[in-house]
Amino acid sequence: MTRPLRVGIFGGTFNPIHRGHLAIAEEVRKAIGLDRVLLIPAGRPPHKTGRKIPPAKHRLEMVRLSVRGHPDLEVSDLEVRRRGKSYTIETVKALERNYPKGTEFFLILGLDAFMEFSTWRSPDELKARCHLVVVSRPVFLFADLIRLDFLSKTDPKPLRELDQGRRVRHEFPLTPDTRLILIRVKAHDVSATQIRDHLSGGKRLKNLLPPLVESYIIKNHLYEGTTHSS
Ligand code: ATP
Repeated sequence: MTRPLRVGIFGGTFNPIHRGHLAIAEEVRKAIGLDRVLLIPAGRPPHKTGRKIPPAKHRLEMVRLSVRGHPDLEVSDLEVRRRGKSYTIETVKALERNYPKGTEFFLILGLDAFMEFSTWRSPDELKARCHLVVVSRPVFLFADLIRLDFLSKTDPKPLRELDQGRRVRHEFPLTPDTRLILIRVKAHDVSATQIRDHLSGGKRLKNLLPPLVESYIIKNHLYEGTTHSS
């Protein structure tokens, strides 16, 4: 019997996609043995409203350019094609319809994003439909997860050990069918905000972007002298 497909779902505004995003996708794929990771740029990110974000077609194209040479990373335009705000629960349901029955989905997110998870649409349904994979991010602490209502009774010791680098992975059940997997990844001290600031201020990027993405930004005059925050 063939084992079910294991698919990572890595969503983001990707404004722009940077080396940190790609490194995380690859590191998680290897760490938990995923068949592929889907990078899914948000069409209209629900948490980043009221701010100017470059059109989705540019962000999507940058993600497409960035995965060249990464055969296990794929790009999905699902959220860009969908009207309205890009809610992850709708994306997961659409993927369930498109993949063979029994496919296991792993939603990948940074620790900063996970701290906001309870404010997402239908968090309980998401927890029941996919495993959650939360990766470390500089400045954020796994130990702070006990501030989240649904993790308030979690043993803090393994969380502290993750923060201290004495442990690289810790997991426990979320529901009878799904798990929360915490992974300490190599530190990637980069954010899209920092990149936009560098670009608008004419500063050097110091290898923070895949080269094809950097060329695309220059060619299309993205982020020039603006603060395209998100
Ligand atoms: P911004 O600075 O505009 O908020 P960002 O760099 O956080 O952007 P997003 O597109 O918002 O990028 O992030 C998509 C996902 O990637 C989120 O789950 C976020 O937590 C995660 N992520 C982004 N950069 C890192 C990083 N350096 N380390 C760990 N996780 C990251």
